[in-house]
Amino acid sequence: MPEGTTLEVDLDKIIFNTSQVVEKCHRLGIAVLGVTKGFSAMHQIVSAMVEGGVDGLADARMENIIDLRKRNFDQEITLLRLPHLSNVENIVRYADTSINSEMMVIEALAETAKAINKIHKIILMVDVGDLREGLFAGNVLNAVKQISDLEGVSLSGLGTNMGCFGGILPSPENLGVLVGLANAVESKIGRRLEVVSGGGTSSLSLVEKNNVPVGINQLRIGEGILLGTDTTHNRRIPWLLQDAFLLRAEVIEVKRKPSVPIGDIGRDAFGNVPHFIDKGVRNRAILALGKQDVDVEGITPINEKIKIMGASSDHLILDITDCEQDIKVGDQIEFSLSYSGLLSVSDSSYVAKTFKRRSL
Ligand SMILES: *Cc1c(COP(=O)(O)O)cnc(C)c1O
Repeated sequence: MPEGTTLEVDLDKIIFNTSQVVEKCHRLGIAVLGVTKGFSAMHQIVSAMVEGGVDGLADARMENIIDLRKRNFDQEITLLRLPHLSNVENIVRYADTSINSEMMVIEALAETAKAINKIHKIILMVDVGDLREGLFAGNVLNAVKQISDLEGVSLSGLGTNMGCFGGILPSPENLGVLVGLANAVESKIGRRLEVVSGGGTSSLSLVEKNNVPVGINQLRIGEGILLGTDTTHNRRIPWLLQDAFLLRAEVIEVKRKPSVPIGDIGRDAFGNVPHFIDKGVRNRAILALGKQDVDVEGITPINEKIKIMGASSDHLILDITDCEQDIKVGDQIEFSLSYSGLLSVSDSSYVAKTFKRRSL
């Protein structure tokens, strides 16, 4: 067993989840982009998504996309964050497609693409209510007209994003608005759009119920494939696995201590005034895991009897009083991860990563 703090990734489970999502979406004529930003695009996991059958890859970070290209991933890659005006050259070089909402940026992409003899594909983002990126419906046709006049870019399609800033749930109604707009755009430009992109994991509930409006032909899936959860709907997706990722950290102290600190209470290490409930003397363990390693709000002990009491930069304090097993210094405690937990731990250089693969 590896020492210290480790993120263990079960690649077979990633492949299983990917193939489940791909199969369900393909049945409805929907392509699946594997979204790689939730795990810093670690190439072993990206390969598992590819093996599971994704139709393309997508990430919000150019650093990740460039890294994937250096590792010879030759799939279609979509940049999932609005491009930086200051970085259009890399975007055109390394990503095939980007999501966009600003004409100034689209013009810069066009100019740069033309200069290096490329055609960069544009997904125009439409805001159907979540109030993150995108144009409101009334401005779409005008933007399409302007994009059509540019060389170096081609309008690949329309897309929308939900369940992010505003927590808006995808529905046949709001995705229907997107399809209606796509139809209007197609009449205006006299050709079919390649892509009508109807959101991420939160849209899978519509796939399950066969409620995706006809015309939506792409989803961009991260969380569902990785964690088998759908945070926007606050649910586990019953046909996916939830345990592809496991975080392990080592116990460095076990002692019985009172539940209320002794002395005058000032601020904790992060400037907050801590509050304590007196539960008497408790058995506690300290782990070598802290806020520098992981978003502590995003981890849950696998053993339900273990409770997280608090964390500082480098230490996690657990209440192990109700735990039947005897926990000793040197033991490893296991945690499952939420999306924010996964995001933070993937990016921490203090957490070792190991990959399991059985079915070779
Ligand atoms: C992150 C992201 C996704 C993927 O979302 P999941 O909920 O992880 O499936 C899709 N689209 C955009 C624009 C994103 O930023």
